[in-house]
Amino acid sequence: MKFSEIQYERPDIKAVIARYETLAEKAGAAKNAKEQLDCVDEHERLLSEVATMMSYVYIRHSVDTRDPFFEKEQEFFDENYPLFEEKRQEFCTVLLDSPFRPELEKALGRLFFVNMEIAKKAFSPANIPLMQEEAKLVTEYSKLLASASLEFDGETVNLTQLHKFEESPNRDTRRRAYAAEASFFKANEAEFDRIFDELVRIRNSMAKNMGYQNFVTLGYYAMNRNCYDASMVAVYREQVVKDILPTVMKIKEKQAERNGLSGLMFYDNACFYPEGNPKPRASFDEMLGLGRKMYHEMSAETGEFIDYMIDNELFDSIAKAGKQPGGYCTYLPEFKLPYIFANFNGTSADVDVLTHEAGHAYQAYRARNMKILELSQATLEACEVHSMSMEFFCYPFMNLFYGDDADRAREAHLSDAVSFLPYGCMVDEFQHVVYEHPELTPNERKAEWAKLEDKYRPFLRFKGDFFGEGMWFMRQSHIYKNPFYYIDYCLAQTSALQFWAWAQKDRKAAFTAYNALVEKAGTETFLDLVTGAGLKNPFTPGCLVDVAKETEKQLF
Ligand code: ZN
Repeated sequence: MKFSEIQYERPDIKAVIARYETLAEKAGAAKNAKEQLDCVDEHERLLSEVATMMSYVYIRHSVDTRDPFFEKEQEFFDENYPLFEEKRQEFCTVLLDSPFRPELEKALGRLFFVNMEIAKKAFSPANIPLMQEEAKLVTEYSKLLASASLEFDGETVNLTQLHKFEESPNRDTRRRAYAAEASFFKANEAEFDRIFDELVRIRNSMAKNMGYQNFVTLGYYAMNRNCYDASMVAVYREQVVKDILPTVMKIKEKQAERNGLSGLMFYDNACFYPEGNPKPRASFDEMLGLGRKMYHEMSAETGEFIDYMIDNELFDSIAKAGKQPGGYCTYLPEFKLPYIFANFNGTSADVDVLTHEAGHAYQAYRARNMKILELSQATLEACEVHSMSMEFFCYPFMNLFYGDDADRAREAHLSDAVSFLPYGCMVDEFQHVVYEHPELTPNERKAEWAKLEDKYRPFLRFKGDFFGEGMWFMRQSHIYKNPFYYIDYCLAQTSALQFWAWAQKDRKAAFTAYNALVEKAGTETFLDLVTGAGLKNPFTPGCLVDVAKETEKQLF
């Protein structure tokens, strides 16, 4: 089915709730496992219907935020989703308490139940008003960011458009671009402070309502952490500092040297080469065609996948007025359609759409015939393994996009991939500090961020700049929108880099293992998936030492 053929119909939320209530009753009265499994099938249909329409609205609203119809529909889902979730949980509770649970586990797998138990620990009907308040604040944050309209070198730009200047080969342009960004954050500092302060307060109250000491416990449950905990993450972060940071320091030293600088100011960080970062040479219209060529050359499976994506109109990649910034991949289960949203802007980020977002879409495509929707989608760090590894598997085809600049594009990408690890850990540690100490004032939080800059990015100088005073976190939207969703990228990158190192030696074996991991979707935990694929558990001491060694071999 093509995307344009989808007919939208707003789910009748009252009817959905009634169906769920009937279903929970029916499951509760079931006389055997078979009858309960039939109820699970019906629940899957209900979930798929609602999830599909919800994703569809999300897509249509982000493609044109000015369309009043889909703006209303988005509000409808924002408001009603917690009510839907409440009923879904009630149904799941019947399964969790089922006398036939051993038979159900045999049919559906144990993880299905482990995840349901965690979801239950993350949700309380008493928190619904707080959840709605939280969603409103997150929207306020997004709107505030989107409201930025800055004059820069004769152009009126938003924050996303400003990023292009922040990686300019001209140092003065970069410096001024960051100064322009800082002026926006400075002017709105009180608002950014207020929104975050309220978010922390609300999240802390939700945790307290559920009897948890603080939001860390609840945040982990909300992220469905089913195979590691905060103490393991803390050890991982320290390993990144010990084993990866020295490599990043070398990368940054080399970058400074190449650019003729004695050290990197924070505004020098994104400019990798004195002549500018490699840019794709193809026009926007040519990009999808090149993507098709690349995936056909890669393998039969990926070729079939890319045809499916392009032929069914599953990309919206050209930037246009009214479109939300950024990029994502989502999935419409009812029609078995992944969907990629992006804003091509002429930088390497455009290629990432075809490698990273397409990696997510490839996984959704390969798992499209799975019966249980919950198991067709892995936890988020595993999802990022699908996408970040695909970025590396695309390395041999970079000449299609960059021509004879492909080597530099690969070098910059690999350097970025490794340099990301300390930054990702910094974002994660900051969130732990914030939610373990909800009593901190906004200024105390900024001081904590500034301290973490010294720990994780000692190679950057801020020299009393606004961003050096701990304001940087305000521009990192995950901190506001998706608490504790960030270490996922680090754990995934640690795994993806192992696939890269493996592919250097034996591409065929690495790609086969990757395909097997992708096909397992969410039927296993993240750690079972990566170790099952033959990779090292990222939490194992020494894992990052190998990653650092392989990267240095390639880069120096
Ligand atoms: Zn991703």
